[in-house]
Amino acid sequence: MSAAVIAYDPNNIFARILRGEIPCKKVYEDEHALAFHDINPQAKIHVLVIAKGAYVSMADFSIKASDKEIVGFFRAEGTTAEKLGVIESGYRLLANHGPNSHQEVPHLHVHIFGGQKLGRMIAVERQS
Ligand code: AMP
Repeated sequence: MSAAVIAYDPNNIFARILRGEIPCKKVYEDEHALAFHDINPQAKIHVLVIAKGAYVSMADFSIKASDKEIVGFFRAEGTTAEKLGVIESGYRLLANHGPNSHQEVPHLHVHIFGGQKLGRMIAVERQS
């Protein structure tokens, strides 16, 4: 494992959702991924697609996951977008990794934002 990737914590909130210990508003599920509505939506549509495997982030996933898991995860993302009806209108994907990104939950996930105009790419914090 890259020294820059922290160890996986099996008690993170998304691991607990995967184990059924905490409920979620499910959009889609298959053997590779689970998609559900974000609890604190930042757009009209804000859905999280999380991997079924124990990966901290996209950096960790890209190093350790099998080709099958990587293909499965991205197909699940596409299927979720289709189910949300955002393919034609457009949507944005976002994946945070590490401190500069403000990643809150250390389990691989991609945000899907849509249902409205999303503005330009990102808001960058001012440096003091
Ligand atoms: P990130 O900053 O990329 O790690 O994003 C984590 C996201 O998970 C945030 O947008 C949170 O609102 C969301 N979140 C945290 N707990 C839950 C939960 N129990 N159900 C759904 N979304 C959650």
